[in-house]
Amino acid sequence: MDDDATDETEEASWQLEANCLGVDPDLFFPERGASTKEAKAVCKGCVVREDCLEFALQNGEKFGIWGGLSERERRRIRRQRALERAAKRDDSQTA
Ligand code: SF4
Repeated sequence: MDDDATDETEEASWQLEANCLGVDPDLFFPERGASTKEAKAVCKGCVVREDCLEFALQNGEKFGIWGGLSERERRRIRRQRALERAAKRDDSQTA
């Protein structure tokens, strides 16, 4: 079995437990300025929230609510992680 097939299987397995299964997808891709409250409420009780968020972060998902976070909130996390990676690089160069 190749790696791609494994990734797809893992991805599919967490998505099967998603709280948003059967929920209108439009809820998770609100118009600009529209409320994200309802989508976030669905995500709040989702057992695969972490998997969903990591998937979105790893794949650079730019639109919609993933793992209970908006585009802007995910951007903040990506920026924060990039800063942490840069700080670690600096530390290892000066050590
Ligand atoms: S965290 Fe939200 S968007 Fe992600 S799988 Fe769960 S309910 Fe769906």
